[in-house]
Amino acid sequence: MADTDYMVINGDVVPSADARVHVGSPAVKYGIGVFEGIRGYWNDAEQQMYVFRLRDHLARLKQSMKILRLEDSYDLDSLENWVLAMIRANDYRTTVQMRVMVLLDDPSTGRPATGPVTAYVMANPCPPHPFMETGLSACTSSWSRPDDTALPVRVKCNANYVNGRLAELEARAGGYERAILLNGRGKVAEGPGATFFIIRNGQAITPSVTSDILESITRETLMQLLTEQLDVASVERDMDRTEIYAAEEAFLCGTFAEVSPIVSLDGLDIGDGTVGPITRKLQTAYADVVHGTVPDHVDWRTPVYV
Ligand code: PMP
Repeated sequence: MADTDYMVINGDVVPSADARVHVGSPAVKYGIGVFEGIRGYWNDAEQQMYVFRLRDHLARLKQSMKILRLEDSYDLDSLENWVLAMIRANDYRTTVQMRVMVLLDDPSTGRPATGPVTAYVMANPCPPHPFMETGLSACTSSWSRPDDTALPVRVKCNANYVNGRLAELEARAGGYERAILLNGRGKVAEGPGATFFIIRNGQAITPSVTSDILESITRETLMQLLTEQLDVASVERDMDRTEIYAAEEAFLCGTFAEVSPIVSLDGLDIGDGTVGPITRKLQTAYADVVHGTVPDHVDWRTPVYV
C-alpha cells in the first residue's frame, strides 16, 4: 500500500512526513486513543468517490471518545470536512481505506493520563482483496476476546487491538488465514477487525452486541441488505463454535474486510468448502451499494468531488 501524501491534523492539511506525535505521549505509551476505519469507494462511471456511512463512523468515533473520557473537542461537521479535505488534497481517484484517529498526545500528562487531544485523518489506496473469490480458512483462536468488564470492546479503542494482533499471528503460524475469537463465556465473538455471520438453514445468524463484539457498521448494513435484497432474515444471538462447523456458509465483515467468505474452520469445510450462494449475492449487493452503482440508500454515501 502506498502511503498517503497529505494528512489532515487538527484541521490543517500537511505533508504526511510533517504529521508527528511525541514518543512520550500517552498514545504511544499506553495506546490511549480511538479511531475509525472508513472507506471511500471510487465510482469510475461517475468519476466520483463515495465515502460510505461517514456520519455513522464519526458518530461512533465520538462515542469512543466519550467512553474513553477524552475531551469532546470536535463536532461532526468539522470531522466530516477534514475527511473530505484529506481526500481532495491527495486527489484520490481510487478506492481508499481511511483512518480518523484521536490521540492523547501530551507527554507531560500524569496519571491517569488525560488532557487535550489531537486528531488526524489519513488514507491508503485499497485494491480489491484477492481472496473474495476463493474464500479464507480460519481457526478458532486460543486467545479470547476481552469482555466489557475489562475493556470497552464495543468501541474502537487503540489498546483493544493487541488482542486481534495476537490472534492473527497465532492463526498464521498455524497455517490459517484468519482467526475467530470466542468471548470469555466461550461463545463466538468475532474475528480480528471484523464481525461474523453464519448461514444456517437459510437464516443469517450473528453474535449479538452483548457478545463482546465491536458495534460494527458493516454488520448492521448487511443485516439490512440481507432482508431487503436477499429475503434472508438475520438473528442476533449467542453462537456456539460447533454451529460454525454445522453451517452452510460463513463470512467475516467489516469496513476493511467487506464480505470476506470463510470456507473452513479448524480444518473442517463449512458447507461444501466453497463460497456459498448467499455470501456471493451479499458481496454483490454490498459492492453495489458502497460504490453507488444502485440508487438505494443514497443517504449512506457522501460524494467527495463536486
Ligand atoms: N471488529 C473490530 C475489532 C474492528 O476493528 C472492526 C473494524 N472497524 C470491525 C469489527 C468491523 O466494524 P465496521 O463494520 O464498523 O468496520
